Amino acid sequence: EQGDRESMFIVNEWACQYFHTILQQDVDGMAIGKQYFRSRGIRDDIISKFKLGFALTKRDALLEEARRKGYKDEYLVKTGLCYTGEHGTYDRFAGRAIFPWFNVSGKVVAFGGRKLDAATKGVQQKYVNSPDSEIYHKDHELYGIYQAKKAIVKCDCVYMVEGYTDVIAMHQCGLENVVANSGTALSIYQIRMLHRFTQNIVLLYDGDAAGIHAAMRGTDMLLQEGMNVKVLLLPDGDDPDSFSRKHTAEEFRKYIDDHQTDFIQFKTDLLLKGVNDPLRRAEAINSIVRSVSVIPDSIVRSTYLTDCSRRLGVDEHTLITQTNKFIAQER
Ligand code: ATP
Ligand code: MN
Ligand code: MN
Ligand code: MN
Repeated sequence: EQGDRESMFIVNEWACQYFHTILQQDVDGMAIGKQYFRSRGIRDDIISKFKLGFALTKRDALLEEARRKGYKDEYLVKTGLCYTGEHGTYDRFAGRAIFPWFNVSGKVVAFGGRKLDAATKGVQQKYVNSPDSEIYHKDHELYGIYQAKKAIVKCDCVYMVEGYTDVIAMHQCGLENVVANSGTALSIYQIRMLHRFTQNIVLLYDGDAAGIHAAMRGTDMLLQEGMNVKVLLLPDGDDPDSFSRKHTAEEFRKYIDDHQTDFIQFKTDLLLKGVNDPLRRAEAINSIVRSVSVIPDSIVRSTYLTDCSRRLGVDEHTLITQTNKFIAQER
């Protein structure tokens, strides 16, 4: 219902400002929340740019303030700011550092909340996100798109990272064409949103097994949509945030410039490294050729096949035949 959506946007907008004001002005908010961001090296201008916030530890602090301001419980629950448990209604994000999600036109559609290591113990999840709602479909949104879109167009390229703090760290280093999909597979909606701004994407994922997995997963969909895909894996154990804090902004930007690999080449190296068994090699080569076969532009496809033939040591015509077979199967 249209009225519902409007009310949800309004309550989110208010909550975003409320969390931000707590962080900037409340005694506890500054001592705990702002201190947390400072300890992670996040600058004040970036705190403002991303409207970072803090949710007080009291489990109904936002609920009470919202009621005082006349916001209805209904919308607090519908947006996911609060949830109704067995014994009443409570704040979802209490005690967490807040990362608001803006949609592409700048409306607040959701929040991510990170637990503070010091203030909370044990079993709690590191991140809590707003649940899907009438105004938030997780697979339709990308964290940071609102702050990035101008730079994406200007640079004609977008960096895809895993996490909120990676987006923020890159802005601090002067790279503003960056979005995060918060560790999930890329969806067709997210790809099409990005494609409106650029056709060049660099996957900049954590240097761990999950990061490699993420770089492989869903990438054929990017190729299929006609995107040019590059991959950059950071050294083992680092993500863009942690890596950027070990280096100067300039070193970080240089590293990123120097270490991008074309996706097909990346996949070739990854799948074929150390594989000598002929059948396993064939399987790997087929998987690579399958990726090439989804690329819509036939010139681009044939360029890749020439390159693959050289890298794989397989006759180019064989690769072309196999590609055409895959294309025919897809029809
Ligand atoms: P930090 O640097 O604060 O520890 P991170 O961004 O490096 O966080 P990762 O563990 O690398 O965290 O996860 C990447 C992203 O995946 C997070 O930024 C977050 O958006 C999402 N994420 C991680 N864990 C969860 C979770 N339990 N629930 C929902 N989203 C999560
Ligand atoms: Mn990770
Ligand atoms: Mn990470
Ligand atoms: Mn991190």
